[in-house]
Amino acid sequence: MDSTKAGRRVSVLFYLLTIYILFQFIWWAYLLINLNLELHEKADPGLANLKIWMVIGEGSVFLIILLSVVFIMQRTIRKEISLVRQQRNFLLSITHELRTPLAAIQLCLETLSKHPDLNSDQRGLLQKNASENTDRLRILIDNVLLATRIDSGEERIHKTETNISELTQKISDRMAHTIGADGIIHTKVREGISGLIDPHNFETILVNLIENAHKYGGDNPIQVSLQKENAQVLLKISDLGPGIPTEFKERIFDKFYRLENEETRSKKGTGLGLYIVKELIGLNRGTIRVESNKPQGSSFSVMLPLD
Ligand code: ADP
Repeated sequence: MDSTKAGRRVSVLFYLLTIYILFQFIWWAYLLINLNLELHEKADPGLANLKIWMVIGEGSVFLIILLSVVFIMQRTIRKEISLVRQQRNFLLSITHELRTPLAAIQLCLETLSKHPDLNSDQRGLLQKNASENTDRLRILIDNVLLATRIDSGEERIHKTETNISELTQKISDRMAHTIGADGIIHTKVREGISGLIDPHNFETILVNLIENAHKYGGDNPIQVSLQKENAQVLLKISDLGPGIPTEFKERIFDKFYRLENEETRSKKGTGLGLYIVKELIGLNRGTIRVESNKPQGSSFSVMLPLD
């Protein structure tokens, strides 16, 4: 059975059971009050009154506890259903993400072995293609492993004194080159910002945010800026893509979460990138927030302490 349908069925059963318990409860309270009135009203009206208030008092406490439990359980069920749905999406997309580069590598290798007469340019192109797809596979596997390490609490941070300005500029230049469009990334990096950070984590964060800016923003320019604010460093990545609707600005950081719109469906991804980014920033005692960019697109701001 479809997990969404099964989840909906569990919810309906849960609500029916809750309503049944509530009715039963009210009915028993009503019977108890009547019983007390019958037993004590004539002989001792004061005692009857006291007993009625006792039933009402204890009943109210029970009712509050019951409603709180129902609320917590209902929230847990909803979260579970959404996690199952996201995991299914993740499995679908990871299968696709694994298959596509594998098929491309296989095709390149087969072409190379079947056509020994290819000239060196053609061979070079095929080898480059195979190597790029191998990289894509490696990045995907690295991300899955990193997310697993984060989840199990095994990911450790290693802070070293780093020239963050130089590192930001170096990664941005390399990414522009990887994207294949020198000049697409506009940097505004304040020089000489240094501090105690984990350079490896910083690179993962910046690479993921630039990759997303390019993936969803197309060939539009990407702005990367770095400045110092008190004892923190502020890294900002802005794009001119479709932007992120306000109601999803928190959810995009959830594991496996992908927006369900045309742009996302047509782009490859697993919904792990921003989860990793947010968790790494959290491990480094930093914060991340996303705002709308002007005139359009998204702007991700990362704050990291320098000590
Ligand atoms: P992935 O890119 O693999 O889908 P991410 O965790 O990096 O996963 O991003 C989660 C979702 O957030 C994406 O699927 C996309 O819908 C949305 N998103 C992320 N970055 C951007 C961006 N710069 N512009 C528009 N949407 C974005």
